Amino acid sequence: MDVPPPPPPPPHVVIFPLAAQGHVNSMLKLAELLALSGIHITFINSEHIHHRLLRHADIQARFVAYPYFRFKTISDGFPMDHPRPVDHFMTTYDYIKSITRPLFEELVAVPDRPVTCIIADGILTFTVDVARDLRVPIIAFRTISASSFWAYFCIPRMIESGDLPIKGDEDMDRVVTSVPGMEDILRCRDLPSFCRVADLSDSTLQYVTTQTLQTTRALALILNSFDQLEGPAISQIRTHIPNLYTIGPLHSHHKSRLSWSSLPPSSASNSLWEVDRSCISWLDKQPPNSVIYVSFGSITAFSRHDFTEFWYGLVNSRRRFLWVVRPDSLAEGGGGGISEELTEAAAERGCIVGWAPQEEVLHHGAVAAFLTHSGWNSTLESVVAGKPMVCWPYFADQQVNSRLVSRAWKAGLDMKDVCDREVVERMVNEVMGERKEELAAAAGDLARRARGAATEGGSSWDNLDRLIEDIRSMKPSS
Ligand code: UDP
Repeated sequence: MDVPPPPPPPPHVVIFPLAAQGHVNSMLKLAELLALSGIHITFINSEHIHHRLLRHADIQARFVAYPYFRFKTISDGFPMDHPRPVDHFMTTYDYIKSITRPLFEELVAVPDRPVTCIIADGILTFTVDVARDLRVPIIAFRTISASSFWAYFCIPRMIESGDLPIKGDEDMDRVVTSVPGMEDILRCRDLPSFCRVADLSDSTLQYVTTQTLQTTRALALILNSFDQLEGPAISQIRTHIPNLYTIGPLHSHHKSRLSWSSLPPSSASNSLWEVDRSCISWLDKQPPNSVIYVSFGSITAFSRHDFTEFWYGLVNSRRRFLWVVRPDSLAEGGGGGISEELTEAAAERGCIVGWAPQEEVLHHGAVAAFLTHSGWNSTLESVVAGKPMVCWPYFADQQVNSRLVSRAWKAGLDMKDVCDREVVERMVNEVMGERKEELAAAAGDLARRARGAATEGGSSWDNLDRLIEDIRSMKPSS
């Protein structure tokens, strides 16, 4: 009698994010989703990020539930005690690449078990070269919106059509017509911040363009978005990268799938800062829908002028506010130098913390709206919570995201390129007052779509199933 062959071993996926809060957060959620389906995971963090996760997040307790999930660490090229600037990965990319690449190659080439596939942050393009050299399939993951990715992808087209460069005396409200699917959306001021250069040989513009086009060398692309949110950009990307998995919003998808599993619910915190939960007790004492939540993510650094304008704007709006001011929020360092008058008004109506449990805050009944820098994770978290936004984009993809919110989805207001106390006051009052109902209705509609996509039978749910099946059908390298 023939003995049936043993079943193939479960696939083993190596996941590697860029060392930044938003990237690590969403890729850890993806990693856990894959682990839930029985896939073995090696998750590679920089030593510095891993150390902070161990201090401030619950990763150890959480991942113990997956016996075949393990973390490995790799140097980002700096000593552990180096005071990395918040955006160091933008300025030191080449350095990181020369130090990190050989270490990454070593981890993939000499694993203790064969690697079925790599899922790497699309920003880390050297991973594609390593994967190709080692003949391991690689899937790129971009943590930005589909619309931003598509705008990056179209930079050569914008140059060819004359939409770029943006000249010194440019009318920033000029409509950009060379990004297919977004012709009635984007103006010059809504393009990714790297496009704001008069010189096309600008190194960051060149780097972002090359890096984005490199994505087509990967086997497939994963995006933290969903078809009912960014349909036009997603269909355009598919014409260039047919193997596209839109599986977002990942944090909501993660919650849906965990609720189907036997695992205990967890906060799923992936914070790199100490979370100050006193803001939840403060929110508990506020009337329903009375607070604007203010946070500019993990990278934004303010000039003293802009910081002071936000202070005045918030205090003068006379609304209640919960504001996240990271210890490194001021570009020039030091304290805020805030007057007594403002500090007193803030104590009356405001709560300020260094880092908040943001998803929980956004779902709190006291929170009515979100003043945000339009980072993609924050935008998706607000979409899922159904909260309208006032957007003050800082850099990169955020300029595109804030335009999506205000123009395409009509779920908020865009304050880009202005930082003035009167504008802050007016917009906060519009979103909390005069236009509250209209904006909240649009935000509520987005929330319903997001929930639909990330529950069983939804597009993101189906796409994740397809991704898992495709990984299972890959042959591990030996
Ligand atoms: N975040 C948080 N607490 C805070 C501020 C931010 O947990 O006080 C999280 C937020 O929920 C989001 C991430 O940090 O998941 C920020 O990512 P995003 O893409 O919005 O912006 P970035 O920090 O990359 O600019």
